[in-house]
Amino acid sequence: MSRALYPGSFDPITYGHLDIVQRARKLFPDLTLAVVENPRKAPLFSTKERRDLAEQALAEVGLRDVPVTTYSGLLIECAKNMNVEAIVRGMRATSDFDYEFQMALTNRDLDSGVESVFLMTAGRYSFLSSSIVKEVKQHGGDVSKFVPRCVERALERKLGLGRPCESA
Ligand code: ADP
Repeated sequence: MSRALYPGSFDPITYGHLDIVQRARKLFPDLTLAVVENPRKAPLFSTKERRDLAEQALAEVGLRDVPVTTYSGLLIECAKNMNVEAIVRGMRATSDFDYEFQMALTNRDLDSGVESVFLMTAGRYSFLSSSIVKEVKQHGGDVSKFVPRCVERALERKLGLGRPCESA
């Protein structure tokens, strides 16, 4: 087993996501990050912005050989089209479990050839979510421990905070 997909909203990508990418790469050398076009919640960043930020963030932490793609519709169709053996998801706290369990079993019913694999996040990222990062930044807090610099700058531009700066 070597080919896997790591799907998500990535609105925006955080160090928690990047931690999962690093762990997943050890198991799946051929890993692709997939940004969903229509996440469950209305996203702050457009699909292109989320994809670009994911690429920049991966490069910023030295993960240059993890391609980023986008998909719409059923995740399992994307996984089949890309011929992957596994879908990687991150687990933070038990609050992730119910939804992930439901999704994994539904995907297995739709195609039993694709396994869902769950990786535990690092303890220091177990509370971290894209939503928390957006909220902290919105109120002027420091998010440098949670997201790479390129994401921090993008949040400043998007939320109209700080001075306009160079393109990320
Ligand atoms: P989705 O809307 O599909 O849940 P997210 O971008 O919120 O998209 O999350 C994508 C995946 O990354 C999910 O499996 C989620 O549990 C995981 N994830 C999000 N934040 C973290 C984190 N801090 N540590 C580990 N995994 C995380």
